[in-house]
Amino acid sequence: MPWVNITPGVAVTMKFMETRPVVRYLHWVDRRSVACEGEGCSFCASGSVRKERYGIEVWINGAQATWEFSPTVYTQLVTILGANVSWTDVEVKVTRIGVGLDTKYVVEHLGEAGSQPASTPAAAPVGTPSIEEAVHAAMLSEEYITAVAGAVSELLLAKLLEWQVVVIPEGE
Ligand SMILES: [Zn+2]
Repeated sequence: MPWVNITPGVAVTMKFMETRPVVRYLHWVDRRSVACEGEGCSFCASGSVRKERYGIEVWINGAQATWEFSPTVYTQLVTILGANVSWTDVEVKVTRIGVGLDTKYVVEHLGEAGSQPASTPAAAPVGTPSIEEAVHAAMLSEEYITAVAGAVSELLLAKLLEWQVVVIPEGE
């Protein structure tokens, strides 16, 4: 399966095709990732730190692909979607902010495919921007420059929280 690669600043909608993400443990050896062998793993024994990664099959742009993400993103997705629910057919809108170690994701829960979204646009306060508008505004502002220089600025974070957008740091 191809990997999901989200262009920064572009919102993508994806639908989960599995009940839960699968966790994998990887070592970085000879400039590539190799699977941890678990009990008695030779890489673990040699002192290599294993990295936790999550992956789930998604339906995106009319095709199936694998979205891989960090434990931090997983924790935030659980917060958004609920602890003990199936993710199958759940739709989310994901916007990536920044690149490399500064990568963060803004995730909006669109509800289950075919069902009513949790909140309708009519219930939103007047003047509430869409995710695209919020991210676009953030990218044009001084706050965004602060955000890409390091952590998301408190002002941007406060605004995103106010609009019930969850900012997910990619780093661990
Ligand atoms: Zn290992």
